[in-house]
Amino acid sequence: MNSTYRRLFAFASLYTNRVLIALAFAGCAQHSDLPSYGSITTVDRVSDLILSAPHGNYDTYTGDMVQEICSVTAYDCLIARGYRTDEHPINVNRPTEGVGVAYSEEQVTGRALAVCDYYRSNVEKIQSEHLRYYIELHGNNRSASAGQLEIATVGIDAARAAQIKQTIDNSLAAHGLSAYTTAMEGIDTIYFKATGAKQFGILATVQTALHIETPWAIRGSASSRAALVAVLKDLMNSL
Ligand SMILES: [Zn+2]
Repeated sequence: MNSTYRRLFAFASLYTNRVLIALAFAGCAQHSDLPSYGSITTVDRVSDLILSAPHGNYDTYTGDMVQEICSVTAYDCLIARGYRTDEHPINVNRPTEGVGVAYSEEQVTGRALAVCDYYRSNVEKIQSEHLRYYIELHGNNRSASAGQLEIATVGIDAARAAQIKQTIDNSLAAHGLSAYTTAMEGIDTIYFKATGAKQFGILATVQTALHIETPWAIRGSASSRAALVAVLKDLMNSL
């Protein structure tokens, strides 16, 4: 079994629908299904933090924000653009397609496996031997989540979650975003739990992660977006 097969098998074995796996697995062994319409850019430094935007343009402005944060900090960064579209809703951080459906309804496809494998190989390429935090930046326009940052976590206990929440809430207030709060998995109720990525995607392969969902209400204006960049920079510097 070559390394590509091994990586694909690692993801596929985590996925419960074995019929779909068999079909998808056969279809992307040579990366021939990697779509030409997407791209991944990376910045590799001597850092034990990675900041990534897996849906850099679909989650509007998240790619630009990661690029901006990356330009003024010294962390490893990754931006994927173009793979997730309305027409082809490839999930990138997991080997499935489907947006706005339950993770159990997402479909494994050859191109989704190929994109996920390409994404993971880029994470592996830039990550240090000891990756302390893997952080994803996302954006949504769900009205019930409009007043808050929602953060799903991997490997973070309730005490640490409370510290991170306090850090972000302080920073939101300091940068003029006191109308918004932070909802942290483990201590608050959150909607965006990143269950698919945890079960059969990149979040199943890292020890510690923050999956940050940001509302359109903040991302939509240049001034509040700049404030959010400052908040995220504060957060990363505090980890
Ligand atoms: Zn997203």
